[in-house]
Amino acid sequence: MLSFFNQTKILVCDHQLKYHMTDSELELNWFIGITDIMFIDNFISKYSTRLAKRYLTFEQSSKIPQPYPGNNNSYLLYIHIPFCEQLCPYCSFFRIEYEPSLASKYFDALENEIKRYKNLGYNFDAVYIGGGTPTIMPNKLARIIECIRNNWNIKQLSVETNPNHLKPDIIKILKDAGTNRLSIGVQTFNNEILESIQRLEIYGTGEEIKKKISSVVGIFDTINIDMIFNFPKQNERMLSEDIDFINNIRADQITYYPLIASESKRMELTEKCGNIDYKNEKRLYKYLARQLADNYKQESIWCFSKKKGLIDEYIVDHNEYIGIGAGAMGYIRGTLYFNTFSIEQYIGMANKNIPTVTATRKFSHIERVRFHFLLNLLAGNLNFPDMKQKFGTLFKFALARELLFFTANGAITFKNNSIKLTPRGQYYWVILMRSLFSVVGDYRQTQMSLNTLTNENIYDS
Ligand code: SF4
Repeated sequence: MLSFFNQTKILVCDHQLKYHMTDSELELNWFIGITDIMFIDNFISKYSTRLAKRYLTFEQSSKIPQPYPGNNNSYLLYIHIPFCEQLCPYCSFFRIEYEPSLASKYFDALENEIKRYKNLGYNFDAVYIGGGTPTIMPNKLARIIECIRNNWNIKQLSVETNPNHLKPDIIKILKDAGTNRLSIGVQTFNNEILESIQRLEIYGTGEEIKKKISSVVGIFDTINIDMIFNFPKQNERMLSEDIDFINNIRADQITYYPLIASESKRMELTEKCGNIDYKNEKRLYKYLARQLADNYKQESIWCFSKKKGLIDEYIVDHNEYIGIGAGAMGYIRGTLYFNTFSIEQYIGMANKNIPTVTATRKFSHIERVRFHFLLNLLAGNLNFPDMKQKFGTLFKFALARELLFFTANGAITFKNNSIKLTPRGQYYWVILMRSLFSVVGDYRQTQMSLNTLTNENIYDS
C-alpha cells in the first residue's frame, strides 16, 4: 500500500507536503526529517492519504464479471446491511435511512446473491454481517443466516448491532442463529459527547447504554464494544471514565477507532460536533492503550481483547473475502471489488442473477505486497515465511524502502523471522489506517451522491 519513495513531485518542507519535487530531493528531505517526530506524523498522514487516493482509483462499469473462487477456496463472507434508524454525522460507512419496504426487498435480494455465490463454487467458513444496522429487521436477518448455514459450514459468525437492539427477542434470534460475536456500536459513554454526535436522544445516556450491554455479556462467545477516540473536546478524563464503564461491563473485546473525518464529512462534522484536532490523537491513543492494558490484550492497533476470536478487522484474519450487498467490498487474488451503491439497482441485479460488482481495482504484484504489509501489521505482526509463500522470496525487495523508513523511525523490529510494530509504530499504523479509511469513506460518499442524483435503476426491482 505504501510506496513512500516511488513517487515523484512531492515536496517535503516545514511540516508540509507541497508538490513539484524530484525523487532524489524527496529522499534527501526524508532522511533529514527522520528525527523530527511531529514532522513524521504529519508526513505519514498526508503522504499516505495521497497514495491511498492513487491506489483506490476504481474502474467503473456495470458489466464487470464477478470473480471465480481460486484453489485455496475458503473465504470470509462479508454481508452489508446499509439501513439505520438515524444517520450519525461522523459516520462514513455506506448507510441510508431505514425504509421498511425497501429494506424488506433488499434482504430478499441478498438471499438470491448468496445462492449465486454457492453456484459459482465458493466456500465460506466465516461470516461478518456489518452495516448500517444489520439487526434492523431481525427476522429477515435470521432468514439470511439460515440461508448461509444451509449452503456452507460456518464456524464463525459476527454481527453488528446498536444498543437499542439489545432486547431479549432480538438477542434470542441472534443466539438461535449461532452468532459467536456480537459487536455493539457505542462510540462513547460520555453524555456531553453523545449529545454532540446526536446519539443521546436515540440511544440514551451512558448509564442506560451500560445497563443494556451488561444484560447481554456472557450470552455470546464474544461481546465487542466499538468505541471512538479523538472526538472534538474529548480529553483524558472523558476517556478514563469511558474505560471505567468498559471495565465495569466486563465486555470481552473493545475496538477503539480514531475519529475518521473524511474530506466529504469534515464540514458537517465540524458544524455539528466542533473542530477536529489531530494533534490530540496521539496523546489520547497512548492514554487509552495504557489504560486498557490492565484488563485486555492488544490484538491489533486498536482492538483489545480478553480472548482470541474474530476481530472487527476481518481483513486481517482473512486475506481474501467476498462482499455481498450494496456498497460491499471484496478482495480476491489481488483485485478489490465494489458492488453498486444504488440499493434499487442492487435489488434488481441480484434478483436477475446479474453480477452486482460495478467497480474494480487490480493491484500490481508490488502493490499487493505492500497491501499485505499494511494489513498484516495492523494486527502488529508480519510473518516472513507466510509472505514468502504468498509472494515469493523477493518480497523483501518490494518492501525495501518501507522497511528502511519504518526501521529508521523506530516503528518496527525484526524478531524470529517476523516484523513487529513498536509502540511508536502502532501509532503510525493508526495514522495510516485512518488515512486509508478516510479515502474509502470519500469514495463511498461520492458513489452515494451519484446514486442520489441519478437514482438510476437499469434493472426492474
Ligand atoms: S454509526 Fe452506526 S448507527 Fe450511526 S449511521 Fe453509522 S452505521 Fe448507522
